[in-house]
Amino acid sequence: MDHAATTMLLPKAAAYMRQYELSEYGNPSSNYPFAAKSKAAIESARYTIANTINAKPSEIYFTSGGSEADNWAIQGIFTSCGKNMPHIITSAIEHSAILNTCRFLERKGCHITYVPVKGDGTINLDYLEKAFTKNTVLVSIMTANNEIGTIEPIEKISEITHRHHALFHTDAVQAYGHIPIDVQKSGIDLMSVSAHKCNGPKGIGFLYVNENINFDSFIHGGGQERQKRAGTENVAAIAGFKIAASTSCEKMAEHNKRELYLNNYMTRLLIREIPDITINGSSNKLANNINCTVKGANAQALIGLLAMDDICISAGSACHSDSSSASHVLTAIGLSNEDALSTIRITLGAENTISEIEHVVQKIKYAAFNLRKR
Ligand SMILES: *Cc1c(COP(=O)(O)O)cnc(C)c1O
Repeated sequence: MDHAATTMLLPKAAAYMRQYELSEYGNPSSNYPFAAKSKAAIESARYTIANTINAKPSEIYFTSGGSEADNWAIQGIFTSCGKNMPHIITSAIEHSAILNTCRFLERKGCHITYVPVKGDGTINLDYLEKAFTKNTVLVSIMTANNEIGTIEPIEKISEITHRHHALFHTDAVQAYGHIPIDVQKSGIDLMSVSAHKCNGPKGIGFLYVNENINFDSFIHGGGQERQKRAGTENVAAIAGFKIAASTSCEKMAEHNKRELYLNNYMTRLLIREIPDITINGSSNKLANNINCTVKGANAQALIGLLAMDDICISAGSACHSDSSSASHVLTAIGLSNEDALSTIRITLGAENTISEIEHVVQKIKYAAFNLRKR
């Protein structure tokens, strides 16, 4: 019940990956037919993946995952923009891969504005409009949030951004393979995606960059990825990503329908069975997300009790689930510190079942009852 943290590798993708791990393991940069098979696997994946977002294959740069793509997007524009004191706009609810990159650049003299969000987690567009300066080079706002699932109005955000002559980057790690994405239609200039959030392998992702944009390389070295991202490609992971990407995009409507059904069922059950529970976020959210405050029950303790029954849910995001401080996303949507520390995130997958949901709700009910007694 923690599909926002990661998802199961598709068996079909795993089988395809094995081929490139065990037999066709040539270095894609070598000049003989054996290696050409590895090269062909990469280019075929690039073509397939580009098609899923209406991009050109030459606009896809494979990375080690979502975090690298986020780091690269922000730093690649920062170093290539040619301004002494560039200004970057982001939001208060971004993933730490964006927020900590921004904090790093602040220490290098970059000016950053963190746009607040409304109670449902959507970007405050009036605030965004007023945030631009003559030095604004980039706006980075996520497509869908990893804790509360809120889907941001990225078409409006890119329109506002372009009107102010800046570039628009979006972290689409939670959105890709889950909701349709069209980089042309949405006016996306740069976009980060990770494979393991859509049934692909871990340690692989991509950065989409519109072909008209000049940006700096992030990993310097050999000529891989059209001189932009050095290092021998992770051929097997890229091949597995191709299968995961095409499958999750093909089955998107079916999966969404199933997740929405499970989500509605679970949400109703949670509200019916557990007193004083509130659902956070927006009605316009990812189909699999339930973020709820179980008032008076400490989330870490609750998760610990559920873990004893092998139930996997989280408080906030996996990236800082070990910290005892309140989630920046939850405080940004207006939750008190106390409520934020009593909030859990359940993220369903199409393979979850009604009986699993009934079992988990009973366990949450029991755990909440015991914790509230203390
Ligand atoms: C998981 C996640 C990332 C990081 O992706 P990795 O491939 O794990 O580095 C970045 N942004 C969001 C929104 C995520 O959910």
